[in-house]
Amino acid sequence: MLVIGAGAAGLMCAYKASLDGARVTVLERNEKAGKKIYITGKGRCNVTNACSVEKFFDNVCSNPKFLYGAIHTFSSKDLMALLNSLGLKLKVERGERVFPESDKASDVTNCLYKACLNNGVIFQFNTTVLNTKHNGKNFEVSTDKGLFVDDTLVIAVGGKSYPVTGSKGDGYAFAKSFGHSIIEPVAALSAILADNTKPLAGLSLKNVTATVYENGKKIYSEFGEMLFTHQGISGPIILTLSSLINRKDCDRLSFEIDLKPALDDKKLSDRLLRDFAENKNKQICNVLGLLMPKALIEYVLRESKISGDKQVNSITKEERNRLVGAVKHLTFKIQGLYPIDEAIVTAGGVSVKEINPKTMESRLCKGLYFAGEVLDVDCFTGGFNLQTAFSTGFIAGMYGAKNIQKE
Ligand SMILES: Cc1cc2nc3c(=O)[nH]c(=O)nc-3n(C[C@H](O)[C@H](O)[C@H](O)COP(=O)(O)OP(=O)(O)OC[C@H]3O[C@@H](n4cnc5c(N)ncnc54)[C@H](O)[C@@H]3O)c2cc1C
Repeated sequence: MLVIGAGAAGLMCAYKASLDGARVTVLERNEKAGKKIYITGKGRCNVTNACSVEKFFDNVCSNPKFLYGAIHTFSSKDLMALLNSLGLKLKVERGERVFPESDKASDVTNCLYKACLNNGVIFQFNTTVLNTKHNGKNFEVSTDKGLFVDDTLVIAVGGKSYPVTGSKGDGYAFAKSFGHSIIEPVAALSAILADNTKPLAGLSLKNVTATVYENGKKIYSEFGEMLFTHQGISGPIILTLSSLINRKDCDRLSFEIDLKPALDDKKLSDRLLRDFAENKNKQICNVLGLLMPKALIEYVLRESKISGDKQVNSITKEERNRLVGAVKHLTFKIQGLYPIDEAIVTAGGVSVKEINPKTMESRLCKGLYFAGEVLDVDCFTGGFNLQTAFSTGFIAGMYGAKNIQKE
């Protein structure tokens, strides 16, 4: 078996296939395995999520049905048990996110890499695959280090985000060479470009609700943490929203933050009245600090068309209503997502309609398998993307090894 890519999917595939008796060679352009794994979870690697299998699918953004078989066959519990058996201790954190106890992403890569070596897997590092074809009997894989030939081929080259880690979107051309269709790759789990955020850059907000409107109609809402950047907005809830809107026409979208989702308009107005009563002779810019981070005050006052030096005892009811409106509906225009290079994952890829979900084998070319982010599957944050790579890699390895034994 030839596996292209020594990322999460390729490593798991090579491990499972070699365990099941296949002779496996992994072709990897980098000098080492799992370069992307090293930067996952801010270097700690959120390796999976310990939630139930049912809950897992709520966190799959594209094509959850396609993943049913793979996630049921090799679930997060199975992954955790396997990593434990290979000597990697794990811990479960907030939101059932699973990390190595050491907080070192490198431990995840090393444990799988070593297990592969123990099973006799051969790694050809510094080897870039240039093109792939089937000669009627075998797969011919051309690389910058020569030709590799085998009757079973697994394409596990990832998507096209963070190309410095080696995943540059090469898999789409390989898949096309076998007649596969590609769903246009777009950024997912990405920061969002928005206007007028520069003055707020660096400010992070907790317990806010972010809402996206399409043609004025509310389409998605998320509660939690976010932050402002020089060019837009980012943070956990924004990453989630980005994966939901990444194929939409931005001209139709607007974005709103509710800074006080726990208070309705009336309660917020009453709260302002109380703050004003307690600080009668102060300027509004100094009183609003009780309600929101300092960095937001100027922005909110401008939106409410109220001068910052106005004394609170002279704020009119109308001005207070405008203030409530700005706090509950801080609006920004969405201009698009950040470039795909900077996205955490790629949405789109090899169309899953042409892949057997039980085996990860191509429906168009026998002996050809796909695994990981190269496929048109993507999930929200929380360890779901790595689990998807591991599960599809496991299945491709298992059925790829069976394919060899059938010969
Ligand atoms: C900053 C960041 C943080 C993340 N954090 C998390 C997290 O904490 N939890 C989580 O679940 N997910 C996380 N993800 C997403 C997760 O890392 C990916 O979804 C996952 O690594 C995909 O695995 P893969 O094996 O399909 O692809 P990749 O990991 O991209 O591996 C593909 C491999 O193929 C090799 N390759 C590509 N083309 C060729 C070629 N032509 N010839 C030879 N080799 C080639 C590449 O060099 C690479 O090693 C994060 C992603 C990023 C960018």
